[in-house]
Amino acid sequence: MIRYTLVCEAGHSFESWFPSSDSFDAQAAQGLVACPVCGSARVGKSMMAPSVARTDRGSRTGPPPAEASSDAGPPAIVPPAAPQLTATEPEQRLRALMRALREEATRNADDVGARFPEEARRIHYGEVETRAIYGEASLEEARALVDEGIAVAPLPPASDDRH
Ligand SMILES: [Zn+2]
Repeated sequence: MIRYTLVCEAGHSFESWFPSSDSFDAQAAQGLVACPVCGSARVGKSMMAPSVARTDRGSRTGPPPAEASSDAGPPAIVPPAAPQLTATEPEQRLRALMRALREEATRNADDVGARFPEEARRIHYGEVETRAIYGEASLEEARALVDEGIAVAPLPPASDDRH
């Protein structure tokens, strides 16, 4: 719905609602829009001035913007202390998780050290009894094992390695 302010040929101003702009045009063309005062069907849309707030150019009212910040001291933006605590928390949790993984992985496994690729193959091909092992392998060795269908997984580094 659109509300139009209409003016008849006699200068009577009145308001009326229309479903759309085209609807007003159609009804006005057929003489269906009549002035409620004089009954004239010769009405048209009033020239409406946009309803904008009055602007007082040159005379600025209200406090100047600079007044608030001049004597307010340091900015009110204070970094909260929480991030300093939470910054190390994810690392601590990650290291704890890695330590737990390593303990889980090595609890019932044999440390074969640098013989890991060899031992992994012997177990895989049934040369020795199947058992859980862990040890060292280069990236190439690990890839070679994977290519042969031997499941290997990187072991989390010990949490004490860096200290
Ligand atoms: Zn009129």
